[in-house]
Amino acid sequence: MNIGDLTKEQLKEHIVNMGESAFRAKQIFKWLHSGIESITEMTNISLSLREKLSKDFEIFLPEVYKKLTSKLDGTVKYLLKLSDGNIIETVVMDYHHGKSICISSQVGCRMGCTFCASTLKGLVRNLTPYEIEGQILRAQKDLGVKISNIVIMGIGEPLDNYDNIIAFLKNINDEDGQGIGYRHITLSTCGLTEKIYQLADEMMPINLAISLHAPTDTARQALMPVAKAYSLDKIMDACDYYFDKTHRRITFEYALVKGKNSSPADARVLAKLLHGKGAHVNLIPVNPVTERNNIRTTKKETTDFQKELESLGINATVRRELGADISASCGQLRNNELNG
Ligand code: SAH
Repeated sequence: MNIGDLTKEQLKEHIVNMGESAFRAKQIFKWLHSGIESITEMTNISLSLREKLSKDFEIFLPEVYKKLTSKLDGTVKYLLKLSDGNIIETVVMDYHHGKSICISSQVGCRMGCTFCASTLKGLVRNLTPYEIEGQILRAQKDLGVKISNIVIMGIGEPLDNYDNIIAFLKNINDEDGQGIGYRHITLSTCGLTEKIYQLADEMMPINLAISLHAPTDTARQALMPVAKAYSLDKIMDACDYYFDKTHRRITFEYALVKGKNSSPADARVLAKLLHGKGAHVNLIPVNPVTERNNIRTTKKETTDFQKELESLGINATVRRELGADISASCGQLRNNELNG
């Protein structure tokens, strides 16, 4: 097994059971979450302990399979290869004065959103905690930078891989690991409400983004099959609970699809739904996926929608388009690769 997939407690237990001190476990934890690629690199650990560990465990970081750098804004998109040959997508962007990374949580996805490339071939498997973190460790090594912000908005539905996401969050936040603050981490979900309640109770104040994409259940169900199981009412209640527990503002993502959810009347229904919630709406003109026939809104339609929301007191921004020259939204690079 991959030793990086152990939680700090599991690692400590294992090391102590080997007759070593808890302090050794801490040293090993630090190494594992620093980006090493072999147990032999743990130079302050005795050779004999390193040999013993190598018998039980391996280390593997996702490998760069393809890398595209935008000439427009320096955004870097990676296709990373996992130990079993599966491929995932990871994107690094400039963010204020730091670097932000968009990471995947699963190989593929089973949510079936009609506009999304990640779900076209279904779910292959969950990523392990260390595979989720490995995207960050690999990008940092490859680019020689320290990542300061994480968005879990790549391939997959993070709350459909709940336990591994929680283990990842604990490790990435740990002061002996990368020490990235929860407030610098955003998790995006299509709205699995029971998991939103569970996440709120973890007392990890990460930012939550909800993929809303429509202001009524009927319109949402036409775009997102998952909406049949989770009504907007249920989602709004879960969001209120999340906000009460964490005091983190919730962002609502809204991909504008021409003729489906993008009229000024849709904006008015949306404003009513979000009224009084201190909500922030992130508008994204949909990225057309070849296999689907969704059409993105024009610049004017997009700003009209934004203005309509703002005139009704709802804070809304249009997402900056980064890396426009190196393929579109998350999931498309992998999909193109699978299609050959
Ligand atoms: N499964 C999670 C996170 C991954 S998707 C979720 O649903 O939130 C990250 C965001 O990109 C989601 O808001 C998703 O709906 C959106 N998205 C997916 N495909 C898109 C496309 N073609 N155009 C615009 N946004 C898209």
